[in-house]
Amino acid sequence: MRPTVLCFSGLDPSGGAGLQADIEAIGQSGAHAAIACTALTIQNSQQVFGFEATSKELLLAQANAVVGDLPIKAIKSGMLGTTENIAALAEFLAEHPDYLYVLDPVLVANSGGSLGNQETLVKAFVELIPHATVITPNTVELRALTGENDLEKATTKLFTMGAKAVLVKGGHEDTPEYIRNALYINNNGQAELISETKCPRLDGEYHGSGCSLASFIAGRLAMGDALNVAVNYAEAWLFGVLKNADSPVKGGQKIPKRF
Ligand code: PLP
Repeated sequence: MRPTVLCFSGLDPSGGAGLQADIEAIGQSGAHAAIACTALTIQNSQQVFGFEATSKELLLAQANAVVGDLPIKAIKSGMLGTTENIAALAEFLAEHPDYLYVLDPVLVANSGGSLGNQETLVKAFVELIPHATVITPNTVELRALTGENDLEKATTKLFTMGAKAVLVKGGHEDTPEYIRNALYINNNGQAELISETKCPRLDGEYHGSGCSLASFIAGRLAMGDALNVAVNYAEAWLFGVLKNADSPVKGGQKIPKRF
């Protein structure tokens, strides 16, 4: 059977982000996606109206049901919704230290809507950071996680918090022509840049671009790629799916065409 990525992620009814993005991206990476659902959200391509988080018992029961049943090689987490769910995932990862783990530290939706209490989520994410093979924050999330405005200082701080590798995504930075992503690894507590990509900035807003990128990386890691290879492959793949994205009828964020 194909290597499996078990995703801890929420349902987005628009199908742009969340667990549907994970399933489609991981399918395209060549791996198989399994899901432990963290929350049911109410949203469309324009805004988040609310969500109901899964209890930690139900979340762990879903995950444990497929452990041993499927050849899980990697874990990917996106929206976790509550600090209880973050603690449950930390517990699960501690029981499975051999799993690779991609941590997408989702705090808010790209449309700006709340996917949990940002202040408490930021504190709880500290528990997950040391487990991650790679963390994939955008610069808003990086600043929120570390309390540092300067990006270099913020990245270094994540390493002092136990990170092994960090992909800093530059989509929210003021670079009208391009988006710069930078992959760092931990070199004795210092951030060592191992890959930098600049891709042309596409017009418009996209729903689920972060989920898609992190999941494709997890899929390629599960398939055996080295981290920098998985990241560069995912970046090239994402550019294509965003370029071909569908535009919703009322002008909401575009929905990536992942296949
Ligand atoms: N997970 C869920 C369930 C979501 O609804 C969203 C955003 O709406 C995200 C994750 C993060 O999406 P993005 O990849 O656009 O940052």
